[in-house]
Amino acid sequence: MNNFDLQALVRPNIWALKPYSCARDEFKGREASVFLDANENPYNGPLNRYPDPLQEEVKAVLSRIKGVPAENIFLGNGSDEAIDLIFRIFCNPHVDNVVAIQPTYGMYGVCADINDVSYRNVNLEEGYRLNADKVLEATDMHTKAVFLCSPNNPSGNALDPNEIEKILVNYQGIVVVDEAYSDFSDYEPFRLKLAQYPNLVVLNTFSKAWGCAAMRLGMAFASKEIIGLFNKVKYPYNVNLLTQQKALEMLSDITKIQKWIVSIKKERASMLPAFADLPICEKVYPSDANFFLAKVKDANALYNYLIDNGIVVRNRNNVALCGNCLRITIGTPEENCALLAALRKVK
Ligand code: PMP
Repeated sequence: MNNFDLQALVRPNIWALKPYSCARDEFKGREASVFLDANENPYNGPLNRYPDPLQEEVKAVLSRIKGVPAENIFLGNGSDEAIDLIFRIFCNPHVDNVVAIQPTYGMYGVCADINDVSYRNVNLEEGYRLNADKVLEATDMHTKAVFLCSPNNPSGNALDPNEIEKILVNYQGIVVVDEAYSDFSDYEPFRLKLAQYPNLVVLNTFSKAWGCAAMRLGMAFASKEIIGLFNKVKYPYNVNLLTQQKALEMLSDITKIQKWIVSIKKERASMLPAFADLPICEKVYPSDANFFLAKVKDANALYNYLIDNGIVVRNRNNVALCGNCLRITIGTPEENCALLAALRKVK
């Protein structure tokens, strides 16, 4: 990429910001046994102590598993925290804008609204394919970030990596590649291309393949400089001790996670054709994720029918380019069978 100028992209108040220095930032790396620096309660260990603000132990293990140096990792309260931080770091309200594909994950637009930043949609092509030129055309001198989600939610397909790279090369702002679902895809993850692209921010999460949505732990991978900005703006103790401890426990047993991924992918392979065979189904879209999008005859009626049968899917009927579509998560074999059995009864 030519002429990437990080400072020119960052809001001036953020570039100049002197972050809050917490007690655990000031005392670091030396041995001590008496902690009288943070106004904590001396009783009720270990919950009485503030957690590591930069989660170094978790990052050290993650670095090995994800193949990304620890200095290129940010951890947040879900990847939603990283999404919000991108707006707060780069986008001046009322002045700047971001560009995102449509349909896509709803939080990019919600965070844009919360931060009072204009949000530009670029429709995906037939088959929910990414057209890099259309995205590039939608950007202007005030576009601070482009949001790409791959595999995309709600369509389920991975975006063409060549089109993503075309945007990374030709656009001078931040390119966010949200790979929340990439563990279910066979494409090479973009986090392994960080060294090539100083404008790349990749999002991952513990909420999907790692089975820890309740834990609220998300990751952003980016250049050391961009990670420095995330750390400067985040709340001092944004990831609590219980989450850090549980993350270390989960990271110690990757085999279990890999088995889940294999079984979810296997179920996906049998669910898609089974769903396509249902009389109510008009089309099933290909999926690189742990869910799939299906066009049905009457999504609202079917959604309500499933609710009456104790089965909840996601009705995407009101989402642009998703008329009469339901988004269905791959569950256990028993859950998937229950869904198919209920739908086979529909006349
Ligand atoms: N990105 C995408 C594409 C998602 O679908 C979701 C959650 N549905 C998230 C990010 C948010 O993940 P987290 O639980 O880490 O906040």
